[in-house]
Amino acid sequence: MSTKDVIKLMKDEEVAYLDVRFTDPRGKLQHVTVIADEVDEDFLEEGFMFDGSSIAGWKSIEASDMKLVFDLDSVYIDPFYAEKTLCVHCSIAEPDTGEAYDRDPRGTAQKCEAYLKSSGIGDACYMGPEAEFFLFDDVKYSVAPNKVSFEIDADHAAWNTDSDFEMGNLGHRPTYKGGYFPVNPSDDGQDIRSEMLSTMKRIGMKVDKHHHEVATSQHELGLIFGTLTKQADELQKYKYIVHNVAQAYGRSATFMPKPIAGDNGSGMHVNMSIWKDGKPLFAGDKYADLSQEALYFIGGILKHAKTLNAFTNPSTNSYKRLIPGFEAPVLRAYSARNRSGCVRIPWTESPKAKRVEARFPDPSANPYLCFSALMMAGLDGIKNKIDPGEAMDKNLYDLPPEELADIPTVCGSLREALDALAADHEFLLAGDVFTKSQIEGYIELKMEEVQAYEHTPHPVEYGLYYSC
Ligand code: GLU
Ligand code: MG
Ligand code: MG
Repeated sequence: MSTKDVIKLMKDEEVAYLDVRFTDPRGKLQHVTVIADEVDEDFLEEGFMFDGSSIAGWKSIEASDMKLVFDLDSVYIDPFYAEKTLCVHCSIAEPDTGEAYDRDPRGTAQKCEAYLKSSGIGDACYMGPEAEFFLFDDVKYSVAPNKVSFEIDADHAAWNTDSDFEMGNLGHRPTYKGGYFPVNPSDDGQDIRSEMLSTMKRIGMKVDKHHHEVATSQHELGLIFGTLTKQADELQKYKYIVHNVAQAYGRSATFMPKPIAGDNGSGMHVNMSIWKDGKPLFAGDKYADLSQEALYFIGGILKHAKTLNAFTNPSTNSYKRLIPGFEAPVLRAYSARNRSGCVRIPWTESPKAKRVEARFPDPSANPYLCFSALMMAGLDGIKNKIDPGEAMDKNLYDLPPEELADIPTVCGSLREALDALAADHEFLLAGDVFTKSQIEGYIELKMEEVQAYEHTPHPVEYGLYYSC
């Protein structure tokens, strides 16, 4: 859209405010709201100054000014605000030079798409994320320095057990791992999910379905794939809408990867494909009808998986999901058939739909950084012809220990992932998509979370050690 189109839209729709939105390094959508009277063509062309020093992981106080650059093709009317408000997603620029700020995740995603084109490997890449989440009725939490307490309502905590029979009659609630897909009243999320999906459709998002997931009160909505930066914007809207519709129903949504011990966690599988000259690069005549490029792409993902974990699984909680037995992957293997490896090739007869699914990412990821890092690893695989080895067409959870010993794994902790990122990141620096300073800043930011977690006594430790 041109600046003229946006001003016309604001007038025609009688918009009262412009909500200027951007994403911080941790992946949280941030905003500042400008009254419509202030918004003219010059304003939209020039961008909007703000203090970047208050955003964790960005500038220090001495160099705090930053500029928000509007992406006028991203506008949509906010579906929740009482006053009619147009939202716009932004990238960040240095105010003096106008250059992209290297720690802006959205800028990284844009550079990643430009790099793909300049590499000659492809001219577009498509991402299809599948973000799962839980809905809780009555989550009370309070966070104070050095003190975190978290309580889940008794009904849902009660399901955190294998012994459903001991619980007596719990009405129509799904049994343990019985949530996939009985109709209501077992599935009590129908209306809320439909409202989430309809809200997405109303603001122009491309969506296709929704369903209950395997764990009790776990859900997933279907977003149709799109190009990398745009799709990361869509995921930010997806989360925003899920949180706000849940809130309107008096419920609370969480994208935390493993909120309930002993039940499935929430993943964010990412389906990926590259197109060149209007043709799908991943369709071919090799394993699972993949092309050689697709196999090399998988090779890059598996090779760099531990580094990728720093972006695809960037919370301390992420590693409570990446354990055997809960449909989340642990082993760095690929297959067309089973869901227990890091990479799956979903079944499709259509070469156009041929794609590679990374199964280890989770929805605590910053989507701009997560998609860019995955793409950079895959492109490194193509450039350097990284062989992914043989496919593993067996249930990897059931492998005997001697076979397991030979298969590399994903990281077991955020600390390990940050160490892997520090040691192996050359592939991210190609085309200046990521920068060294950005990676250092990211590690520093995330190490604060690791330390807060490692330094805090855990409830499990009281059970194990209090009486020692
Ligand atoms: N919830 C599973 C996970 O943690 C994924 C289930 C599915 O295949 O959709 O990744
Ligand atoms: Mg799912
Ligand atoms: Mg999937």
